[in-house]
Amino acid sequence: METALQSNQLTTLANENQRGLINSSAFTFSKEKRLPVLKTKMETKGLSIYYNKTLAVEDFSLSVPANQITAIIGPSGCGKSTLLRSLNRMTDLIPRTHVEGSVLLDGENLYAPNIDVVELRRRIGMVFQRPNPFPMSIYDNVAYGPRIYGVRNRVALDDIVETCLKQAALWDEVKHKLNQSGMAISGGQQQRLCIARALAVEPEVILMDEPAASLDPIATLKIEELMQNLKSSYTIIIVTHNMQQAARVSNFTAFMMLNDHKAGSLVEFGETAGLFTNPKHKQTQEYVTGRFG
Ligand code: ADP
Repeated sequence: METALQSNQLTTLANENQRGLINSSAFTFSKEKRLPVLKTKMETKGLSIYYNKTLAVEDFSLSVPANQITAIIGPSGCGKSTLLRSLNRMTDLIPRTHVEGSVLLDGENLYAPNIDVVELRRRIGMVFQRPNPFPMSIYDNVAYGPRIYGVRNRVALDDIVETCLKQAALWDEVKHKLNQSGMAISGGQQQRLCIARALAVEPEVILMDEPAASLDPIATLKIEELMQNLKSSYTIIIVTHNMQQAARVSNFTAFMMLNDHKAGSLVEFGETAGLFTNPKHKQTQEYVTGRFG
């Protein structure tokens, strides 16, 4: 009974979300089939990721559409965070990690030898599960990245701070206390501050690893609304173990789980409404109806 209810709710959420997608302006149609034609922003090709000799993600190939929200779902331990971290080479920071295959941003392989990893992480920002504001003022948290990139002019910095805090739907709550510590605000506000900080260096893609996992339902809703507002300007990839969240916020969903080699691999990828209402694979069906995971 509970499973059926959950499944129905997910279907409704995904369908409502899909109607939002069809109304989206970032969306054009091919003449013949009236199917969406979306530009690919990122792509993984035959991506395998090892921790030491242990294969964590195997042969993962996925095209991520521009200006859409793509959710990566799957049971705990199936490699979602590992996959996400490889997309902006955060995996480089973990000792003895080894990546095979390629990750493309606008067709350019991010694992090519000549890549400037600092610049790549500017273009592909990341928001983590636990809000991690720097131990400095709200203002300085947002101005931190632009300052590193050489912005010194106070008026320009003021402008960036205000714009990014507005984009992160935080300005009205903090405009009177910009000099207060970024750590002295609520968890939900801290997470929106981290999003503002990520936006301040003008990324093209934002990776979000369970961005609402540590937040209460109201703060979660704010982050989800914010994501909807951001997607016209950014490509968003979110890892979540919360299927309701994936169904509510994402336009596309990738379902992954452990394969026979005990490595995470892609089972199914498609428009969120289709994947939740009419999955092609039995494993997807079982997962989205709560039969495992
Ligand atoms: P998920 O995000 O789906 O829960 P993870 O990507 O965190 O999965 O983990 C996938 C696998 O990789 C798990 O078996 C986990 O134990 C392993 N793993 C994750 N991080 C590390 C690490 N830093 N070192 C070694 N193994 C890791």
